[in-house]
Amino acid sequence: TERLVTSAKQGADEFEASVRPQSLDEFIGQEQARANLRIFIQAARSRGDALDHVLFAGPPGLGKTTLAQIMSRELGVGFRATSGPVISKAGDLAALLTNLEDRDVLFIDEIHRLNPAVEEILYPAMEDFQLDLMIGEGPAARSVRIDLAKFTLVGATTRAGLLTNPLRDRFGIPIRLNFYSVEELQRVIERGARVLGAPMLPEGAREIARRARGTPRIAGRLLRRVRDFSDVAGSPAIDAEVADKALRMLEVDNEGLDALDHRYLACIVHNYDGGPVGIETLAAALSEPRDALEEIVEPYLLQQGFIGRTPRGRVLTLKAYRHLGLSGPKRQSVPDLPLF
Ligand code: ADP
Repeated sequence: TERLVTSAKQGADEFEASVRPQSLDEFIGQEQARANLRIFIQAARSRGDALDHVLFAGPPGLGKTTLAQIMSRELGVGFRATSGPVISKAGDLAALLTNLEDRDVLFIDEIHRLNPAVEEILYPAMEDFQLDLMIGEGPAARSVRIDLAKFTLVGATTRAGLLTNPLRDRFGIPIRLNFYSVEELQRVIERGARVLGAPMLPEGAREIARRARGTPRIAGRLLRRVRDFSDVAGSPAIDAEVADKALRMLEVDNEGLDALDHRYLACIVHNYDGGPVGIETLAAALSEPRDALEEIVEPYLLQQGFIGRTPRGRVLTLKAYRHLGLSGPKRQSVPDLPLF
């Protein structure tokens, strides 16, 4: 089943393409990142040089791909995109690299998932713009060196901690993206509503923004669902009430937490007395992949202070107990959780 409040990419997100900001000026939020990029891009342009390699790190849906595209546009160079798991053989990457033109941007999403043999050939490519390839096998094998165009590698990762040191060290410009504020998401939603031609009141946009988990991709997705609801209900515009009703129906609570978030929190309360509980144990208890919990579910819960991380595992905070309608950890009998 499709999780609405996931920030992972989903197939039917063509809408994303139509609302993607096209320039650094149009891009909302991430002020620090944008200010830095603006300077580096200007400097590279004025020198006629390729921009240094850039690494974007942060949870899914915060705009890493969008920023990479904007960079190539503002640099006035070509853009090629691939992703770590897609490049299975060194030859695949070699083919991509040899097709690049001078100063082009090569975007590799999920770069922490590159296989080690592929990663190995990336090092000399990034550092010296050279490719060392083995031709043939056995005693007849020889290595050839190929010169590459001076390109810019833009890597994106949801898990900076999983990058190997040699790879991380080769990025001159590391940029961390953070969750968006409600005000910023409100602007993202108002802009999206204009693109969709959906009448939107500021309070409606704000209600959706509050419940979008700090993530533009989720904001866009909720906006489309709320619009459907509003159309069917025949309301003239999306106001706070319509947005709230629609989001409740979609099982998005007033903090933006969805059914999986609730299962996650409830599991820690009921099965592990509020924690600490290790991530492997939790993943098994919830029948969810550990990666998905770490990349999609936990970052927002941590940022919002619903859970804490200790050396012995995850713990629930008082805020989470309150949110679940419970008074606190040390209870004699824990009542059934009201799931919405
Ligand atoms: P990531 O690569 O980090 O997973 P994307 O760049 O694919 O995220 O962005 C996801 C969606 O959110 C896209 O539709 C994009 O247009 C939108 N988006 C991301 N950041 C912004 C922003 N700052 N302003 C407006 N829309 C944004």
